[in-house]
Amino acid sequence: MILTPHVLTGALIGAQTTNPLAAFVFGLVSHYLIDKIPHWDYDIKKIEEKSGGGKVITQWLKIGFDLSLPFFIMGFLAPNEQILKLSLLGAAGATLPDFLVYLSWRFPMKILTAHAKFHDKNHSKIKLGLLAGPVSYLAIIFLFLLLYP
Ligand SMILES: [Zn+2]
Repeated sequence: MILTPHVLTGALIGAQTTNPLAAFVFGLVSHYLIDKIPHWDYDIKKIEEKSGGGKVITQWLKIGFDLSLPFFIMGFLAPNEQILKLSLLGAAGATLPDFLVYLSWRFPMKILTAHAKFHDKNHSKIKLGLLAGPVSYLAIIFLFLLLYP
């Protein structure tokens, strides 16, 4: 999963609310809605299964960048502390499902596995290629910059 679009969408939605719970819940719901749209993706499970420590570290660095970039953007652009808090809650809700999927691989508990199955079933099966993937990624960032308060 590419995290930046989820984080930015959750942040954008959270910033439109006035209630912390609403920011989190709407952010959470946005994850499942966005997953239905074909998007650029990477499979953390496959990354972990690959051998060769160097390559795995490179992949985790990519994920770290993917996760931290939207928080930097948000931190710079949030006009005040209240909107930043609501944005962070929206972003937290929007990233929770992928975190739960990751946890289900590490700790295959019934509830986590059931969520992972639901998440995978809900997720678009269309994989974007090397052009459409990055273009859609940049389009989400552009839309965020345009619409964020
Ligand atoms: Zn997802």
